[in-house]
Amino acid sequence: MNDRLRSLIERLARERRLSAAEYVELIEGRDDEAAALLAAHAVRVRKAVYGNRVFIRGLLEISNYCKNDCYYCGLRRGNRNCARYRLTPDEIFACARRGYDLGFRTFVLQSGEDAALTDALLCDLVSRLKAEFPDCAVTLSLGERSDESYRALKDAGADRYLLRHETADPAHYAQLHPREMSFDNRMRCLRTLRALGYQVGCGFMVGSPGQTARQLAADLQFVERFQPEMCGIGPFLPQHDTPFGDRPAGSAALTCYLLSILRLICPGLLLPATTALGTAAPDGRERGILAGANVVMPNLSPPAAREKYTLYDGKIHTGAEDAAHKTELERRIRAIGYKIVTDRGDPRDVTETE
Ligand code: SAH
Repeated sequence: MNDRLRSLIERLARERRLSAAEYVELIEGRDDEAAALLAAHAVRVRKAVYGNRVFIRGLLEISNYCKNDCYYCGLRRGNRNCARYRLTPDEIFACARRGYDLGFRTFVLQSGEDAALTDALLCDLVSRLKAEFPDCAVTLSLGERSDESYRALKDAGADRYLLRHETADPAHYAQLHPREMSFDNRMRCLRTLRALGYQVGCGFMVGSPGQTARQLAADLQFVERFQPEMCGIGPFLPQHDTPFGDRPAGSAALTCYLLSILRLICPGLLLPATTALGTAAPDGRERGILAGANVVMPNLSPPAAREKYTLYDGKIHTGAEDAAHKTELERRIRAIGYKIVTDRGDPRDVTETE
């Protein structure tokens, strides 16, 4: 690491922002020493806001039907080899109950963009989950929907919404998605979700085909501006039945570097060490936490569903529906000096701690 890089990192830690050109320098100049310095700052900042607590979210993959055709994703409608399924409300409830008993206080309902998941069905599901588990947060990750739909789901009791922006660069967005999909609509959805009072999560893939440092800098500046409560990032991983099936995977090391940068940009960010990061490297989730992440999202879906929710190849089965796995996760997190807590894990207002 040269002096210039060191001074950029020190300034980012102080001022929480850099210019786009400076982010490019930071990304292109990455080496082990720079990563260690960034991680040290990120860990210090995260400890000041959240201590050594790691929040868990129970992920429920409720349907893998999808009307979209994203070039990277194994759930794309063009993938005839994807065995489709949709959980029934009873199955979803049974998984949530198991999750609750294991100590989960957030349920994340995620799916492809499935037209059968109507507002009526989802609102009923959300309001029943909130009635049955009043001390839990419900997070939705169901893709792009109408403003009315987002409003109805919020009124039904949903607390949070995850919608990765995927990339903040419109030209790169067009490389990753067919023309029928719109960058502007994605951004509009994020603004609507924010205006409706959801805790909002955006996010992007690292190392997606064709991605440049300048595009990652745009992602970082988008996060600076949008100030999301959550941000999900993970390496791109190829799925063999997609157009990007033969493209190289993104790097776990670069993902961790970006996690540290994100922690410095938004000290109170809820930042998961994602399943994709855990898939890219066997110790990926631990490395993510040591770089500044503070959330893990074990999978509560029934095993048969998990196998069919094939976003990318080699997806690890971080099954927590099985108490033994949750205990194992707790042990691994404890081994690196952190602690999984039974808590909704809401964002903290960082002004409280300053
Ligand atoms: N349909 C929902 C949920 C999508 S799955 C939505 O649009 O929000 C959640 C995330 O998985 C996606 O946002 C994408 O960033 C990520 N993902 C999909 N395919 C991937 C791949 N091949 N490698 C890594 N991440 C991928």
